[in-house]
Amino acid sequence: MRDTLKHKGMRNKLANLLAAKGIEDEKVLAAIREVPRHLFLDSSFEAHAYQDKAFPIGAEQTISQPYTVAFQSQLLQVKPNDKILEIGTGSGYQTSVLLKLKARVYTIERQLELFKTTSRFFGKMGYRPKKHIFGDGYKGLPEEAPFNGIIVTAGAPEVPKALLSQLAVGGRLVIPVGIEDQIMTLYVRKSEKEFEKTTFGNFRFVPLLEDKN
Ligand code: SAH
Repeated sequence: MRDTLKHKGMRNKLANLLAAKGIEDEKVLAAIREVPRHLFLDSSFEAHAYQDKAFPIGAEQTISQPYTVAFQSQLLQVKPNDKILEIGTGSGYQTSVLLKLKARVYTIERQLELFKTTSRFFGKMGYRPKKHIFGDGYKGLPEEAPFNGIIVTAGAPEVPKALLSQLAVGGRLVIPVGIEDQIMTLYVRKSEKEFEKTTFGNFRFVPLLEDKN
């Protein structure tokens, strides 16, 4: 598959739709206009790649809905050169949006098949996260902490303490919390000991799983 003007046109429409749904951050919308989402999906989904929908990516996982990716990216408030940890690489679409926002991205995936396919895909596309790791993101990545932002792209039954502790002061954790469906939750680290919590609407994610298969 290639990226064509037709795809760019569809991305523009998608970004306009997300703006109409309330996404205001121009940098995030610009990233949505740039990242070729159809290339992250099986070719059978090509015609639908720019609909605001989640799609299966194998191993019972999904590429998040564009609105969700934009919403989480907006909450993170990424600045160029920020060190960002992503839990749940999946297709790598959210990772690529973070890279377009000029973040230094560390991303973790626990499904080996997805990890391998996405790793090859990053190579082919020339997308360069600082680290793409196969493992359990529940524990975060203590050796690279602290992070300016941490984004969890799977539904967490509760907030992993390790992730809060790996935020820099001023850093932001964006995490969907819940079992059946999830409440988008933002934690901002105000000081060593204080966190400010804000909740947003309901979303639906595949579960964040603690142990490897
Ligand atoms: N950001 C992805 C969303 C993929 S769905 C995208 O844009 O495509 C969520 C992903 O989280 C799945 O790939 C799932 O395998 C992964 N995941 C679930 N629990 C995890 C854990 N404990 N550590 C790392 N990844 C996890």
